[in-house]
Amino acid sequence: MRNQHAGVPFTDSDNAIRAALEDVSIPTLLVSCVHMSGDASLLDGPVRPQGAMLNELQGYLSDEDKAAARKVAFEIITDYRDRGCPEPEPASPALVKQMMDFLVGTPVADEYVPMMLEELGLDGLDLRQDPGPREVPDDFSVVVIGCGMSGLLAAIRLQQAGIPYTVVEKNAGVGGTWFENTYPGARVDVGNHFYCYSFEPSDHWTEYFAQQPEIVAYFEGVMHKHGIEEHVRWNTEVTAATWDETDGAWRVELSDGDTLVASAVISAVGQLNRPNVPDVPGTFDGPAFHTARWDHDADLTGKDVVMVGAGATGFQVAPAIAESVGSLTVIQRTAQWMFPNPGYHEPVGAGMQWALRHLPFYGRWLRFLIFFPGCDAGLAAAKVDPDWGPQRTSVSEINDFARMMFSEWIESQVPDDPDLLAKVMPDYPATGKRTLQDNGSWLATLRRDNVELVRAGIDHLESDGIVDSAGVKHRADVLIWSTGFAYHEPLMPMRITGRDGVDLREHWGDRPRAHLGITVPGFPNFFCLYGPGTNLASGGSIIFASECEVRHVMSCLDALLDDGHRTIEPTRSAYDSWYERSQAEMRTMVWASPHIEHNYYANDAGEVHGLNPWRVVDWWAWTRQVDTDDHVFT
Ligand code: NAP
Repeated sequence: MRNQHAGVPFTDSDNAIRAALEDVSIPTLLVSCVHMSGDASLLDGPVRPQGAMLNELQGYLSDEDKAAARKVAFEIITDYRDRGCPEPEPASPALVKQMMDFLVGTPVADEYVPMMLEELGLDGLDLRQDPGPREVPDDFSVVVIGCGMSGLLAAIRLQQAGIPYTVVEKNAGVGGTWFENTYPGARVDVGNHFYCYSFEPSDHWTEYFAQQPEIVAYFEGVMHKHGIEEHVRWNTEVTAATWDETDGAWRVELSDGDTLVASAVISAVGQLNRPNVPDVPGTFDGPAFHTARWDHDADLTGKDVVMVGAGATGFQVAPAIAESVGSLTVIQRTAQWMFPNPGYHEPVGAGMQWALRHLPFYGRWLRFLIFFPGCDAGLAAAKVDPDWGPQRTSVSEINDFARMMFSEWIESQVPDDPDLLAKVMPDYPATGKRTLQDNGSWLATLRRDNVELVRAGIDHLESDGIVDSAGVKHRADVLIWSTGFAYHEPLMPMRITGRDGVDLREHWGDRPRAHLGITVPGFPNFFCLYGPGTNLASGGSIIFASECEVRHVMSCLDALLDDGHRTIEPTRSAYDSWYERSQAEMRTMVWASPHIEHNYYANDAGEVHGLNPWRVVDWWAWTRQVDTDDHVFT
């Protein structure tokens, strides 16, 4: 069978090919040309990418270099077409490494190569697919809680491994956070040609950062393709799961009154899904809703709208509604750092779509070009240098550089409005909170005549508006809470009870933790996806992280079943040591900076438990295979 990444054969005319090449990533094109022609000397030619940066797909090439590359590529592509688009010969490991180095304009450290090779699957193999245990006992089954991105992934892997499973999903459809967040402007902020499963083709996105409906449609398509739907109980919540020592199984209680008996439970409920609506005195008489529960019946046209909160969500909502509302008042407590990304709202052009579909391995290398520069490079700017002086505004020299770069980006957009500039310029270290992707639409929105940014907290509600912490009333027809999510009580409101009746929430208290973010002693065969300590504030994507976690879970299940055990759980010492090391690392990161007044990453004690402080490449290596010395089996 033809390698699915070798591209669909084509017969397009010379002119069509010439036109398509106007629209492609030139570094990616040249690497694809090496596959088509077998001529590696292209990588040593005069056209060489000058470096890599997140979302920079052209390697900083000049227009002359791009034109020269297109000319060479045209000859190679038309020859390839005329030869009938044969499947390219596999590239040797040395050549693949050369391709990586070429694409990012710098040698890729050896430790990244195996991870990237696995992610790319150039040989057409899904290397994260689990072969499955040798034998699955008749009474062995798994309950997966949630059918969002990670629950769907777990279901696919269980199915491939031949392990019976049921997915329980509280919503009516697949997608989790993407199903629930239907607010105007909702779109992903990790490039979609990487923000999708590694084992599914990514040649169909209509935008580089797709909007919510397209992402939900993607998950629906993947679910149907893998035949997962018939295993899902929709509109059903798991209310509790209790370990029963007598038969070594979980009793999983559902909102419809049923109880499922399962040998293992995989929690895939996410970290950011219970809306946080601040408890403020007073009542507002008009329509009021949280962004994750958008009221599509509320017509905002011509209305006076007040939106409280502007983090990643509010930042997307405001530009999407500003034009149609009468007035928009954004009450923002803390200004946000933003990262320049001019292509944030760009459609994927016809040429790019053509290349993704037809040119051998083009889509795979585009994935690499998005993944690698955004992998671990940004972590350095998040690391606190204790000897760096002004910790209040930056935490290291490189962090200060990021601050300057982001500041210039903000200043360039409000050159003539010092009042607005003062309100939108953050006063805490860059990257300390989630850094937002910006193409200028946020500040352009704030400069509109019908939009006002208020930098304040909130005090109380009145029947026709809201009063901010400075005592100023803002009249509203409609009130939108863009105030984020309850973050510090993972797995709520489910009650998870392990061995000896231990309640997981009580066991965790204010410090949720899990070995590798996945397993907890005393909770046998219980696995968390996107669990404590796995949220990302720096590199990779949550889909990549979930693929690592699910692989780890599958390797735990294999170890369990292959050796005829009933249960697996981490040792207390592995669990404690992981937590202590992770917390020690986290205390050296900007996200735990005491100079950020409001930060959902930190709990009331200023500790950060949700985030992963480690390099992506380390995280990948540690989760690859279960370490049986760190686990106990019964
Ligand atoms: P958020 O980042 O927590 O932002 C919440 C906003 O509400 C902030 O402005 C916050 O102010 C404000 N707020 C919260 N409580 C308040 C109170 N009591 N009084 C006044 N203001 C209050 O939530 P979010 O914007 O929904 O984003 C949450 C996470 O979801 C993101 O970090 C990201 O992981 C994910 N997300 C991703 C995307 C994407 O990929 N495109 C889009 C949306 C969300 P302070 O800043 O002062 O706390």
